[in-house]
Amino acid sequence: MPSNSVIIVGGGLAGLAAASALGRRGCSVTLLESRPRLGGRASSFVDKTTGAKIDNCQHVSMGCCTNFDHFCREVGIDHLLQPQPELWFIGPGGERSRFAASASPAPLHLLPALWRLAFLSTGEKRRLLSGLSALLKTKRSGETIAEWLAAHGQSPTVIERFWRVVLVSALSESLDRIDVSAARKVFADGFAAHRDGWRVTIPAVPLETLYGRELTDWLTRHGVEVRLQCGVKSVLVSDGTAVGVELRDGSQLDADHIILAVPQDRVSSLLPEEERQRGDLPDFDSLETAPISSVHLWFDRPVIDLPHAVLVERLSQWVFSRGSTPASDGGEPWHYYQVVISASHDLQGRLQSDVISQVVGELAEIWPDVSQSGLKHSRLVTEHKAVLSMVPGVDSLRPPQQSPVTGLQFAGDWTATGWPSTMEGAVRSGYLAAENILAAAGTSERLIRPDLRTGLLSKILFGL
Ligand SMILES: Cc1cc2nc3c(=O)[nH]c(=O)nc-3n(C[C@H](O)[C@H](O)[C@H](O)COP(=O)(O)OP(=O)(O)OC[C@H]3O[C@@H](n4cnc5c(N)ncnc54)[C@H](O)[C@@H]3O)c2cc1C
Repeated sequence: MPSNSVIIVGGGLAGLAAASALGRRGCSVTLLESRPRLGGRASSFVDKTTGAKIDNCQHVSMGCCTNFDHFCREVGIDHLLQPQPELWFIGPGGERSRFAASASPAPLHLLPALWRLAFLSTGEKRRLLSGLSALLKTKRSGETIAEWLAAHGQSPTVIERFWRVVLVSALSESLDRIDVSAARKVFADGFAAHRDGWRVTIPAVPLETLYGRELTDWLTRHGVEVRLQCGVKSVLVSDGTAVGVELRDGSQLDADHIILAVPQDRVSSLLPEEERQRGDLPDFDSLETAPISSVHLWFDRPVIDLPHAVLVERLSQWVFSRGSTPASDGGEPWHYYQVVISASHDLQGRLQSDVISQVVGELAEIWPDVSQSGLKHSRLVTEHKAVLSMVPGVDSLRPPQQSPVTGLQFAGDWTATGWPSTMEGAVRSGYLAAENILAAAGTSERLIRPDLRTGLLSKILFGL
């Protein structure tokens, strides 16, 4: 093999980003994925009742996700993404608030939208704005955002109706398990630094299509050999250097560099016993995870008049209208909706039917058509280890991409990227691992894309 041969284990966003960057720069890349499709945790499956390809969970990205955007543009799948012009918040009493940027420069662009939040009183909005300002200025970390909010005069109503709604959706954790610095990053990048940071983008196709044929063809054209259903059993290490992998079928592949782009709880089992014993490996067990659930509903008619909405003070956090699918009973098309419940710790042990009926009841309170219509089919999907929990201190536990083993890189949303566990974080980790490999081959190049440029006023006011 040429001296820049690379094996990437794992075809999630981290492995894909590394493969795209290295393939484009002339490396000989082999991407090994154990499942029959790419995308990892951002994936779809076929619902047997409807025959439709549905996502394990709706994935969204934001304007501040500059590396994810760059990856999608590079590999030519950005045309499958739909930037959303506005969001809708729906208060506990059904109050609708449109959320979009005004013409003002950052960080003032979202002030009118925040002021329009109909489910907060004037006093609560004042308190919220002073809390946001204080959070953006703080340099603290090591305490939970729940503790910080309580100490900074945020009332239970403001916490429930605003802070919890935004942060649980963004970080998929409960407020008593989120480090204040992770919470600050959400508001700094998403709300304050740049006018476009908040802008939500949604895939127009199932995730399996987004990370499907077009992407595979692009990778193949750029010298990446993509091997699906090709599980890796172990990394081969010789004299302290990673030299290849052993596949589950017993065959071996050699390479100059290996990237392990698998979830953190899989890494240890892929390392040889003697490497597992070394004291300088990350403590993978200390990286905690959080669950995300999604409720999939098919009605016999359209029941929701918005493309998506954020629901306040309810079990259901976001609802997405996903269009119609042919009816499996041969009648009129069914209308498909997906409700996302992040940090769904409390659903554990609850009956699926009970959760679904609570969600349908909540939707019916907001959209009366829900009670008039026929619910044709429903299902609850829970990803128990959906994302890394951004608990206080977690950043000190996330390892760099260069592993202690020569020739072996780690990649994944759990590695040190400065970002929470998201598609953006995963892409960043893949680019960082690729940077290390290029540097080892003598070609130093910065692959990480810069953040959106911080507005002057945001710098002056908050030191962003
Ligand atoms: C329910 C849910 C909702 C989410 N919502 C959002 C969202 O809205 N926005 C957002 O930005 N992020 C979201 N995320 C997070 C996002 O999906 C992840 O952060 C990202 O996809 C992680 O990518 P990764 O490459 O690090 O890991 P993974 O996607 O886990 O990829 C790892 C890959 O390695 C493969 N693998 C494992 N072992 C082996 C082996 N031995 N041999 C070969 N291959 C192997 C796996 O099959 C997998 O494909 C969500 C996640 C979940 C689960």
